[in-house]
Amino acid sequence: MSLQEYECPACGGAMEFNPTTQKLKCLYCDSEFDVKDYVANHNSNSAGTAAENTSAYSEGSEPLFIYTCGSCGGEIITTDSLGSTKCPFCSNNVVVKEKFTGEFKPDYVIPFSKTKEDAIETYKSYVKARKLIPPVFAEQNHIDEIKGIYVPFWLYDATEHFNGEYEATRHRTWSDSTYHYRETKYYNLTREGTESFKYVPVDASKEMPDDLMDSLEPFDRNAMVPFNMGYLAGFLANKYNVSSEESISRALSRMELTTSADFQQTISGYDSISPLHVDLHTVKATNKYALYPVYILNTTWRGKNYLFAMNGQSGKFVGNLPFSLKQALKYYIPFALGFSLLAYIVLYFVL
Ligand SMILES: [Zn+2]
Ligand SMILES: [Zn+2]
Repeated sequence: MSLQEYECPACGGAMEFNPTTQKLKCLYCDSEFDVKDYVANHNSNSAGTAAENTSAYSEGSEPLFIYTCGSCGGEIITTDSLGSTKCPFCSNNVVVKEKFTGEFKPDYVIPFSKTKEDAIETYKSYVKARKLIPPVFAEQNHIDEIKGIYVPFWLYDATEHFNGEYEATRHRTWSDSTYHYRETKYYNLTREGTESFKYVPVDASKEMPDDLMDSLEPFDRNAMVPFNMGYLAGFLANKYNVSSEESISRALSRMELTTSADFQQTISGYDSISPLHVDLHTVKATNKYALYPVYILNTTWRGKNYLFAMNGQSGKFVGNLPFSLKQALKYYIPFALGFSLLAYIVLYFVL
């Protein structure tokens, strides 16, 4: 068990992955290295050792682990799932190797392409556009808590075999001098075939709400690269804690819904279509493991949890920030008063 340190080979300063240049960059001397070319300083690999599992437990009863920083000797504390963090003493970025090797080694990673500044700007304009958000959410120290985190995802490939039978109808109406006529023709239709899916993502982290992660899609998988720990430097990263067996049903039900809709869409030219029976089965399914980039701001306010998230690749933003009654009174009551006064004056003159 050891740490991979991201320390500048030129000056010893902290290095981090830069989303703009897609390279490892030293924060002090601006040296840049290709992620693939980076070789850690001589002391990086051996000096980082994991201390005994402490009896201390974090809030969520997740055990804590203590590592020794290879650069400064300071203690670095991580949880069981957190695998990329920062030394609190020398600010060097470190990756806990065991969290991303062996069975935990991701096949791919989508590197961050949006910077933390992008996330901050997006968040600020979101808050600005919604005047009813409590002012505390617009405060700078709150905004500083936006974190870039690599979220573990399972990516499923599968082929769905589809067999469906439908009843469709066509109507015709006409009249003569005596009667109105209505004719309904019934058709029996079948559809059969397969549809293949590649890299359908399902988040593999217990801490991340599934619906929030789903709504951050799509991620462009063309930007996916083979995993290298260097992309994690300067960001938080979690290893998976939901297995691929536990996640597969979510992926398959998404594929089944899409397959059913796609086959039904091949039927056209009828007034009504109703499925009589639909049979779906998965022909084969395989999976890969990848880390996807997400910016998160997680806040508790008056005992409730609020979350904002941004896709670290596309900049797509999702959030649920609270509505403040006080702000509503401040912004809307004067308008409402103004309008009723105006209405009163108009009425007065009309009458
Ligand atoms: Zn440097
Ligand atoms: Zn250190």
